[in-house]
Amino acid sequence: MNRLISEAQNAIVLGLRQDPNACITCSFQVEGMVTLLLIRDYYPAIPVLFLDTGYHFPQIYGYRDEMTARYHLNVRNLLPAQTVAQQESQFGILHQTQPDQCCQLRKVQPLFTALEDYGVWFTGLRRDQSATRANLQVADRFQLPSGKQLLKVSPLASWSSKDVWTFAREHDLPLLPLYEEGYTSIGCQPCTERPIDPADPRSGRWSGRKVECGIHIAAAN
Ligand code: SF4
Repeated sequence: MNRLISEAQNAIVLGLRQDPNACITCSFQVEGMVTLLLIRDYYPAIPVLFLDTGYHFPQIYGYRDEMTARYHLNVRNLLPAQTVAQQESQFGILHQTQPDQCCQLRKVQPLFTALEDYGVWFTGLRRDQSATRANLQVADRFQLPSGKQLLKVSPLASWSSKDVWTFAREHDLPLLPLYEEGYTSIGCQPCTERPIDPADPRSGRWSGRKVECGIHIAAAN
């Protein structure tokens, strides 16, 4: 555990040294919170980008507000161009018919716009979360659709799920109550179920129709 923490801290220091103009994305799952706790030792006011899709579980909003107060977080709430009502009026229920388009409008576009303001982007991604993340690098270049390049740093890349939970327990991190209800990977409420495959924590996302929302697939990397 100490070695993993030390490696994560090194990645954080190197990232901030490369460009102190950094942010972290956080969906308030345990990986994001652990990454955030580690970064706060070096940059307490780091902007925390939260993708407020309007489709989150009420528990996510409650936990976000609780953690913001507890850790004095500098949360930037990123809103899509349209409200849920406006989008559903124009396109129907996209998370049922075209989830890629829904994620594009409510997650990818707001995030990529916000990332234009930063030089370093920290995430709580881990390699063993899914096959699509198996080749995740601790530090990697990421290119936005505008052509802007930034450094994407994932300090927990080599951590296991058990490592994350051990760290959370040892640091008295309060956890999202949805974990106690059996959810293992939590996104928007309409696209999140308890895992279908107990061996795959992300198997409850999008009912197996897709595995990523698109924000971790660079436009041109
Ligand atoms: S996770 Fe579902 S509801 Fe959320 S933006 Fe993507 S498709 Fe829409």
